[in-house]
Amino acid sequence: MPECLDCGRALTPDDIGATRKLINRASTAYRCVPCLAKRFGVSEALLRGKIEEWRSYGCTLFPARKQDPKT
Ligand SMILES: [Zn+2]
Repeated sequence: MPECLDCGRALTPDDIGATRKLINRASTAYRCVPCLAKRFGVSEALLRGKIEEWRSYGCTLFPARKQDPKT
């Protein structure tokens, strides 16, 4: 996994998806969600919420969570 450009933290697929969504789809340098939130002047919780929202729309930048067949 690549690391955050700003803080050097190991990135998750959500961090990478969020960078692509917010900055540039073709981006090859990524930031973690806390650093993205700081950059955009929003809270990390808000950004995490947006990620879930985009995921629920079926956005391909975010890997789908495993569906529980009972729900
Ligand atoms: Zn970071």
